[in-house]
Amino acid sequence: MAELHFGRNYSCDYGAVEQVAPGIRRVTARNPSKFTFKGTGTYILGTGKVAVIDAGPDLPDHVDALLSALDGEEITHQLITHTHTDHSPAAAAVKKRTGAATYGFGPHGAGRFPDGVPMEAGGDMDFVPDHTVAHGDIIEAAGTQIECVHTPGHTSNHICFALAGSGALFTGDHVMGWSTTVVSPPDGDMAAYMASLELLASRGDKIYYPTHAGPITDPTPYVAALIEHRREREHQIMDCLGRGVGRIADMVGEMYPGLDPELVSAAGRSVFSHIIAMAERGDIIADGPIAADGDYRKVN
Ligand SMILES: [Zn+2]
Repeated sequence: MAELHFGRNYSCDYGAVEQVAPGIRRVTARNPSKFTFKGTGTYILGTGKVAVIDAGPDLPDHVDALLSALDGEEITHQLITHTHTDHSPAAAAVKKRTGAATYGFGPHGAGRFPDGVPMEAGGDMDFVPDHTVAHGDIIEAAGTQIECVHTPGHTSNHICFALAGSGALFTGDHVMGWSTTVVSPPDGDMAAYMASLELLASRGDKIYYPTHAGPITDPTPYVAALIEHRREREHQIMDCLGRGVGRIADMVGEMYPGLDPELVSAAGRSVFSHIIAMAERGDIIADGPIAADGDYRKVN
């Protein structure tokens, strides 16, 4: 497998505000888990009149910490990378207490399901942005221009935010600092995710600030390794199919040796998202419907 160099030596002081870089501060929520690493990092851009990226999970202590860090300042914009429950729910409480409007691509599933996602674990179904943004839109906030970069895949409504002229990109969960990203159907889409990685590879930003873990200071080889890693996963799946291993549960056992039992389900979702992409390309077919418990084989 491609070597992925994750930065896991990230320390945070829950409730405190950290100066990450000039004009960039962060408050980390106390929601550590197997999926969020140390927790959700809420970024604060600018000083005085500030923009906040991903107010975070619905934890009153986190909202209190964020607002006390900004005592005497004004939140003018709330930018939302995507609608998972560790990212967008606190925006409602922040808006209630400050009036700060929200900016996002749309409600959960907006990039893929105009009538709403049929069923989805971890989605914040309540969030509706005050202002809908699209790929390429520029938001004037925090004394600068912030470009919206639509990066569907992790979710269909995922947006990265680029700080004009700085080479800084806030990558949400599209590219994380400490782990690969879960891509879980139906709203998660591996083909879209790969295209969104290619989009980042073509941009040439200089530093990434993910929601979980610290900055990625050399993003070009990092993104290339993520793309290679996913291609290798597809090769592994083809290899399984070539040996008659056609069910996702059995593939996970072979592809992720020694995997933490708590992560088996997420790994199965990611393999399923690869399977869907490979079936859509016509590389593989299912004996029956395309489903998480389906039985697959190579074409020919
Ligand atoms: Zn997420």
